[in-house]
Amino acid sequence: MAHQVTLIPGDGTGPELADVVKKVVAATGVAVHWDQVEAGVDIMEKVGTPLPDNVVASIRRTHVALKGPITTPIGTGFRSVNVALRKELDLYACVRPCRIYPGVKTRYTQVDLVLVRENTEDLYAGVEFARGSEEAKQIIAMGKGKIRPDAAISIKPISAFGTERIVRCAFDYAVAHGRKKVTAVSKANIMKFTDGLFYEVAREVAKKYEGRVEYEERLVDNMCMQLVQKPELYDVLVLPNLYGDILSDLCAGLVGGLGVAPGANLGDRDAMFEAVHGSAPKYKGLNKVNPTALLLSAKLMLEYLKESDAARRMEQAIIDVMREGKYVTYDLGGQAGTREMGDAIVEKLSRTAGALR
Ligand code: NAD
Repeated sequence: MAHQVTLIPGDGTGPELADVVKKVVAATGVAVHWDQVEAGVDIMEKVGTPLPDNVVASIRRTHVALKGPITTPIGTGFRSVNVALRKELDLYACVRPCRIYPGVKTRYTQVDLVLVRENTEDLYAGVEFARGSEEAKQIIAMGKGKIRPDAAISIKPISAFGTERIVRCAFDYAVAHGRKKVTAVSKANIMKFTDGLFYEVAREVAKKYEGRVEYEERLVDNMCMQLVQKPELYDVLVLPNLYGDILSDLCAGLVGGLGVAPGANLGDRDAMFEAVHGSAPKYKGLNKVNPTALLLSAKLMLEYLKESDAARRMEQAIIDVMREGKYVTYDLGGQAGTREMGDAIVEKLSRTAGALR
């Protein structure tokens, strides 16, 4: 029976990337029925909301989604659809594997990291108060002179509950994938209550995995320098939301850029797979951007659907195309378009599918 999967092509370069993914997944031989629904700036113009109700309803039904990138206008306009989806479905864990693939030009030779980012709390919780609002005034009064009167305010909640489940997720991932070490990243020397709680809870969770998975801590600023200087020392990283977001792009840079960085958003009921990169609106409709990140996200999705063999073949086809370097996009030093790179991957896959028959 076909797997039921919600497909959100997104906006910007999302739809052209989603088209490639559909073709490549079909070439693995795995039957997927895509329930295609629209979210983002394009549907906003038509129906007045960037996140129509049928999107969440579809994911609640299928429990699995593949999502293209969605634009979030800066400063004004709507709140991030990406953040809203993760919160609405309680997709609390964002798992982002970062490894160097053959054929991808990077400054490094050895990087194989997995970032596990908390997805629902921290400064991304969406509890913000505008300059001059009543709420901001009340908080400013509580700040006893530490906050200027014309400040806008964002609240940073970090809970024991949220930390426990994200750290447990990182350790469970480490155990399931034969990884040796989890590093908790925070800034507890400055934010003693919020980031301090993150470490306190992480240490408790780590005790349950003693003897199986090593545990260590790094302050986020030091972590940035360490990752740039000696990324090979690190394995699984677990971070609160904001640090996780920033370090995800840093780690994508270590392994060759946003074009090759996939991700998974996992909850206890539902899962949504998406690339680390955004909608790259300047390349919209130009058949230019690299489909690999969304394809590798689809590969994570196939693993989640227990289609491990298809996932492995798909990854190998992507590796073969990147290693040959003939049909790769501009960011990998080639001249192929999104579609041409996708077609080359389909071609490789159809050969392995043929060999299997
Ligand atoms: P971006 O990731 O869209 O693009 C930054 C640059 O990275 C691009 O200009 C391009 O040079 C490169 N790039 C991105 N994707 C690529 C690909 N597949 N192949 C090759 N090169 C690629 O980041 P941005 O410009 O900061 O954000 C654009 C919009 O996307 C914003 O509105 C932002 O909020 C949104 N965004 C969405 C998501 C998401 O949907 N999960 C994630 C990040 C950003």
